Amino acid sequence: MEERDKRRIGEQLEPGGRPKAPGRLELLQRFVNTHNHDFPDGWDRIGTAAKATAWLREKGLLAAGGRVTAAEAARLRELREALRALVAANRRGRPDPAALAVIGAAAAEAGLVVALDGDGRTTLCPAAGGAGGAVATLLGILHEAQLTGDWDRMKGCRQCGYAFFDRSKNRSAAWCAMAICGNRTKNRAYYRRRRGVSA
Ligand SMILES: [Zn+2]
Repeated sequence: MEERDKRRIGEQLEPGGRPKAPGRLELLQRFVNTHNHDFPDGWDRIGTAAKATAWLREKGLLAAGGRVTAAEAARLRELREALRALVAANRRGRPDPAALAVIGAAAAEAGLVVALDGDGRTTLCPAAGGAGGAVATLLGILHEAQLTGDWDRMKGCRQCGYAFFDRSKNRSAAWCAMAICGNRTKNRAYYRRRRGVSA
């Protein structure tokens, strides 16, 4: 895969040509996939205050004139990794307590209101703007996806942590795509190296 295509992964491209998550869950999926840990740190779409501001504005999570600080961007990255751990738990079992603590703390601060549209349909919307509003929106989406059951189909790639939506019947998909992670043998060798376990 060429670098140009790799840089589009998580936004314009889904590894393996999988469909994106349905409805608003796609936005949460995009958030988790703002960075892939197999790619250079500089590719992180919310890696700095300026990048996070641009990404959140583009996604409608921040008003046109809104800004996030470096500290807020760091907290967003922390939340992203906690959400990634929660996604991984859909395959592995119980979520990491540290990840739950991060998400729980964000949830305790998140202000959500029930908005009503012209058809009488309700949506959980942020009560305020800024980075806090973006976090509230994302957590509202998490809650909705858990109610619909779509959340259970979010999976984390065993190798790179990419969040993908598993539409397979037996929900057994474990890899984002061979295009990123290569073949399984290569992956296992990589995993062992990263964990410092000899082959
Ligand atoms: Zn992967």
